[in-house]
Amino acid sequence: MLVVDDNETNRAILKVLFEKEYEIMEAENGEKALEMLRICQGSIDVVLLDLLMEGMSGFDILKQRSELDYCRDVPVVVISGAMDSKSQIRAFDLGAADFITKPFVPEIVISRVNNVMSSHRRLMSVESEAKKLKIKSELDMMTGLYNKTTSEATINEILKNGRGKLNALMVIDIDNFKNVNDSAGHQAGDYVIKIVSDLLSSQFRKADIVGRIGGDEFVVLMVNVPSMNIVHKKANEIVQIMRYKPNLTIPDNVSLSIGIAVTDRMETTYQELFEKADHALLDAKESGKAQYREFGVEPVDQGDDDRPILLLISRSRSVCTAIQAATTQKLRVEEVIALEDLDKVPEKDIPNICVIHADVSDYSDDGAELWEHLKQYPWIDFSHVLAICQEGNTKQYQAALLAGVADVMTTPIDPASARRRFRRIVGVPEDV
Ligand code: GH3
Ligand code: MG
Repeated sequence: MLVVDDNETNRAILKVLFEKEYEIMEAENGEKALEMLRICQGSIDVVLLDLLMEGMSGFDILKQRSELDYCRDVPVVVISGAMDSKSQIRAFDLGAADFITKPFVPEIVISRVNNVMSSHRRLMSVESEAKKLKIKSELDMMTGLYNKTTSEATINEILKNGRGKLNALMVIDIDNFKNVNDSAGHQAGDYVIKIVSDLLSSQFRKADIVGRIGGDEFVVLMVNVPSMNIVHKKANEIVQIMRYKPNLTIPDNVSLSIGIAVTDRMETTYQELFEKADHALLDAKESGKAQYREFGVEPVDQGDDDRPILLLISRSRSVCTAIQAATTQKLRVEEVIALEDLDKVPEKDIPNICVIHADVSDYSDDGAELWEHLKQYPWIDFSHVLAICQEGNTKQYQAALLAGVADVMTTPIDPASARRRFRRIVGVPEDV
């Protein structure tokens, strides 16, 4: 409780009245009171306020309080010698919770402050419940993504002002999902849904909209993308991650199919775009699943992808994103997050691996464990391994060079230098 009064005796009396129930702080003028409210943000529950003080008056404090986020909700009980109704009206207008006139009867002050506090607590709990309910009604309970209604409304809102911007809608459906429920049970099914939702949440930008619109169906609106290349690259990345399931313990035949439709810089509606993307999704399913299709666009060959492979061994999302960004469509980036997952690299891919990026930047043992582990794989050619070390960590550089890597890069990754080093190792022409 903050007691604001320029009269020391008044403060002492109020302190005696409330010190059993509250920790009491005192301020002898308005300036000090505001300072205390600022410093003790969130920990002052109620203010007892005198009106007529030298310098800043009680009215000034009421006015300032209503403008400050951190104390707007703190109830203020005015205790003043001002008997006139004008002062009372003004104090209530400025948000005072109660007005007690001096001289006061102690029991009455106690019960009126108690009343103010209990109605304040009730109001706060109603408000926080309402806030929780609102959030609950907007989100999908299982995944925390937007639910169907919110996705649709939010996307429509964005598309309404979409002229001139390139926005792309993805409809994403889990392949063979019923099979998970049937063979491993509903809980395993729920787990797969959460894995997919986490993957989608991590893959898109904050401004993009990610929602779950049905059992195993999701939508993503990629907002204001610079080119369709980026959308295709993203769709491909997601399909590939779920195809190879780095570090994921989910059934092998679970993958993702994606349908895409774009606004073409025109204003459109969710419904219109959804129908097109859903049509493209059906194409992807009919063509064998685990792939993406864009509405009205001939598919690029994603099935038998025989592009050279950049194998990226990294536990860091930011490193993966940086390497992906530094890589052109002519290469396929395969990510391996856990070392054990190197066992899962498909045999048919091994001849296509042209370079391996191994990230030890977050290893506490200078990377020794990783280099030892890599030596177990006869197909790993160290003259094509590029180490990613933490900038300035010479022990990491040394361990990597001792292991026989071809080159060392440091974090944060610079895309241009990443491309240069990569070309030097692989000996490929400039355009790859
Ligand atoms: P396809 O490869 O063609 O997409 O077929 P699918 O097996 O994935 O089956 P489909 O998409 O037609 O069906 C989705 C199934 O998802 C049907 C339903 O039993 C199940 N499902 C829906 N909501 C939930 C949920 O919240 N949890 C779990 N575990 N299953 C769900
Ligand atoms: Mg499905």
